[in-house]
Amino acid sequence: MNIIPNIPIKTIAIKLKPSAEKMVKRRHPWIFEDSIIKQNKEGNAGDLVVVYDNKKNNFLACGLYDPYSPIRVKLLHYGKPTKINEGWFEETIFKAYKLRIPLLDTDTNSYRLVFGENDYLPGCIVDVYNQVLVIKLYSQIWFPYLNYIVEYLVAISGCSTVVLRLSRLLQSKGVLYDLKDGQVIFGILEDEVVVFREHGVLFSANVIKGHKTGYFLDHRHNRKRVGELSQEKTVLDVFSYAGGFSVHALAGGAKEVVSLDISKQALDMAKENVNLNRIPYGKHKVIVADAFEGLQNMINAKKKFDIVVIDPPSFAKRENEIDKAKNCYARLARLGAQLVVHNGLLILASCSSRVVKEDFFKISEDNILDTGKTFKVLEKTTHDIDHPINFAEGAYLKCGYYRVF
Ligand code: SAH
Repeated sequence: MNIIPNIPIKTIAIKLKPSAEKMVKRRHPWIFEDSIIKQNKEGNAGDLVVVYDNKKNNFLACGLYDPYSPIRVKLLHYGKPTKINEGWFEETIFKAYKLRIPLLDTDTNSYRLVFGENDYLPGCIVDVYNQVLVIKLYSQIWFPYLNYIVEYLVAISGCSTVVLRLSRLLQSKGVLYDLKDGQVIFGILEDEVVVFREHGVLFSANVIKGHKTGYFLDHRHNRKRVGELSQEKTVLDVFSYAGGFSVHALAGGAKEVVSLDISKQALDMAKENVNLNRIPYGKHKVIVADAFEGLQNMINAKKKFDIVVIDPPSFAKRENEIDKAKNCYARLARLGAQLVVHNGLLILASCSSRVVKEDFFKISEDNILDTGKTFKVLEKTTHDIDHPINFAEGAYLKCGYYRVF
């Protein structure tokens, strides 16, 4: 493919501080700039880096150089020396695809084909929505390889259109080779709103303007589960965004579903997504509100639901926000527990990788108990299979299903 002109790359050799060397031996994909103690030449974005062992000068790993990030090298391969060439990328993308095959056997045509570091392509996310492939880059390291990466992605996925999304950080930095966020780099995009299927339920995503790549695929399994549990139930979907849980609940036969989000635009998408489907008979209502206030108002009004789903945004984007995030999870568990009927279901999720799953479940459970209720754990889940996890920071999603008494 000919998306951008050829960008020459060179190979750089580096050595690391012992602590960082140990991390590489454990196959951690990031090398921070202050861990590098020797580097034989200056690097440009996307240059190949070979990491050598301090004592014996053996090959340890190789990756790509990123002069614009404190994570100076993002690793691609560990152990034995290998050539990072077109064949390596083809094989790596094919391996990623193979992991997703069981999901593609279901009535689903939307999936994450590449999950960055976890699929050995750090800072590169690829989501497929029906015939449209969205590639989101978080680092400049990918530009020298973009032409053939896109070629293999198209060949493997069979998609007819490719949209490029660029992280905000990337958009604010240097050379982007005339590429813009939201640019169609292959094929034709007839409508920026793309309709796709998730376990038989229809959704749409705005692949140009939507959050991340347009939709959150990671909860697919939990949404299906909520759909299965919703027959004849009343459901509250808090932080609903485009109605992922709401639409599955309605399609699963819920009597009434309330989607609550602070964004009116998100709730408009939720309504459109409901309308895409044949809903048996359930009513759909939306509430534009701050979740903490909205839930308290419902408690004051003595409102109750058979199922309450609370799936907030990441509250801990930085290290110093962890305590605040834990406090938010605690408050949400208490609010949610008060809104569920006796014997109802409270489903609590977190997507903050900085709050580990053990802590999140403990906070959720302690705070349900604090409301004077008890609970039984029905299930605890993490990522769906198109979000494989390779390193600690890659694990972010957790979801607890509590029967509340
Ligand atoms: N549950 C969704 C994803 C949630 S994304 C799904 O399954 O797809 C997080 C959502 O939280 C966004 O839509 C955002 O608008 C909303 N949000 C952020 N802060 C909020 C707040 N204080 N109150 C209510 N909604 C909020």
